[in-house]
Amino acid sequence: MQMTPDLRTRNTLSSVDPANGRVLAEFPVMSAEEVAEVVRRAREVSGWWSARSWAERERALLRWGAWLVSYSDELVELLMQEQGKSRDTAFLELVPTLEHIRWAATHAEKVLGSRQVWAGLVMSNHTAEVEYNPYGVVGVIGPWNYPVFTPVGQMAAYALAAGNTVVLKPSEFTPRIGKFVVDAFELANPDIPSGVLSLVTGFGETGAALCRSGVDKIAFTGSTPTGRRVLAACAENLVPAVLECGGKDAMIVAEDADVKAAAKAAVWGGMTNAGQTCVGIEQVYVVAELKDRFLAELATRLEPIAAGADADAAYGPMTTGDQVDIVRRHIDDALSSGATAAVGGRESVRAPYIDPVVLVDPADDSAAVTEETFGPVLVVRTVSSVDEAIELVNARKFGLGASVFSRRRGREIAGRVRAGMVAINSALAFVGMPALPFGGVGDSGFGRVHGADGLREFAVAKSYARQHFVTPGIDTVTLRPTRFTMAAVRRLMRLRHGRRL
Ligand code: NDP
Repeated sequence: MQMTPDLRTRNTLSSVDPANGRVLAEFPVMSAEEVAEVVRRAREVSGWWSARSWAERERALLRWGAWLVSYSDELVELLMQEQGKSRDTAFLELVPTLEHIRWAATHAEKVLGSRQVWAGLVMSNHTAEVEYNPYGVVGVIGPWNYPVFTPVGQMAAYALAAGNTVVLKPSEFTPRIGKFVVDAFELANPDIPSGVLSLVTGFGETGAALCRSGVDKIAFTGSTPTGRRVLAACAENLVPAVLECGGKDAMIVAEDADVKAAAKAAVWGGMTNAGQTCVGIEQVYVVAELKDRFLAELATRLEPIAAGADADAAYGPMTTGDQVDIVRRHIDDALSSGATAAVGGRESVRAPYIDPVVLVDPADDSAAVTEETFGPVLVVRTVSSVDEAIELVNARKFGLGASVFSRRRGREIAGRVRAGMVAINSALAFVGMPALPFGGVGDSGFGRVHGADGLREFAVAKSYARQHFVTPGIDTVTLRPTRFTMAAVRRLMRLRHGRRL
């Protein structure tokens, strides 16, 4: 079966059902000029949108969320058709999306609104104020694996709440979903001029054109190699960027872990959405004394599970043919490097589906250990201690999320793991907590979405210093300060800073 037909024709791109290769719709491949035209319109209305009150923007965003949940049957159907999610997983993608829209909408004023800060002792004849202004137009480039949550719940909701207009370029594999969420904003808000949230469609070149189109910020979610290209394009015009890139999230199972709970979390964290999750669990470092129990638990839970076309299957097809090839290569490479398969194996790959695979102790340099796999494959590595696990985890180039299972030492172990987010005695829990910042280190990118940091990511701090009076007898803002002034300033500095020696 041809899973992903060539999507590319001269001027159109096809939306395709990954389960059977059926073409669902056609979209234009937009040129740099067409992208620039959409950005120009977004800039035209950006003054109008940024001049709305916080309450008006909150209302528009909450109406957007209301629309998405009211028409969720349609959206779920689209996610199943175009991206391959099972019915429940599709709806569950909507849950954090809605929670983040609500959080961004209802917290923007508190986080970004103007506030007074202390001017400091030396400048106490002033008041100091800071406010956070929108950038203007933000370009959001999205991936195919969570085509609603990542561009909307992680990026656009926060950018819009901060007062920016947004131009979204969805992945070439999920243009219908991109169009649905963009249309939803306008349909939910018929009184708002068009262009506050708009869509551009096409392949990577369209995304590159968006980076060069004159937008004021780029919010990118995707693979690390593409992230590098995006940053290079942004560098040409010093366009700031937030990059949410790939991951290779690890779970550490310590001596005092609840093995059943860890295995349950590894199964969900590793297999949901066919393992195509940036913060999905790809590797489990388990201390030697728990290894056999942990593997037995995994096997019991995974053996009845198979990927399938059925809407109620645990998970569906891989979204792209390329992704099947990568997963196949990682399984082959690991097994050739000496790994054993505790669940499944080479035969688990039956494109476009891949049944669960658990690989035990592949070589340190095998692709399944060093590269992002992005498939329903768990690599279990045996370690002599938690210290060894931390050393191995921290040696990875990626640093997105992580998970730690330990009854007594969870927080301490989590604090030593190099990652942007760590779930303790669960997996991926941080995704659904809107107040927690989300983002990676190293090859997983930089910048933060979600929470107050996520709102500030889409705003520029602007400071105001207002003088109320000249401090009597002490004027330093003059080319010839008096002797009295300088003596007083010297004495003050010695008193304030010089006493610690
Ligand atoms: P890609 O890097 O292939 O693509 C991401 C987006 O970038 C797509 O819209 C793509 O367009 C676009 N693009 C491609 N080339 C360029 C370019 N030169 N300039 C600008 N844009 C470009 O990622 P995937 O879509 O394959 O998504 C999977 C990846 O995303 C995984 O690595 C995953 O870990 C990561 N991810 C990270 C998350 C995080 O929060 N850190 C969350 C979700 C996913 P087109 O598709 O049309 O080529």
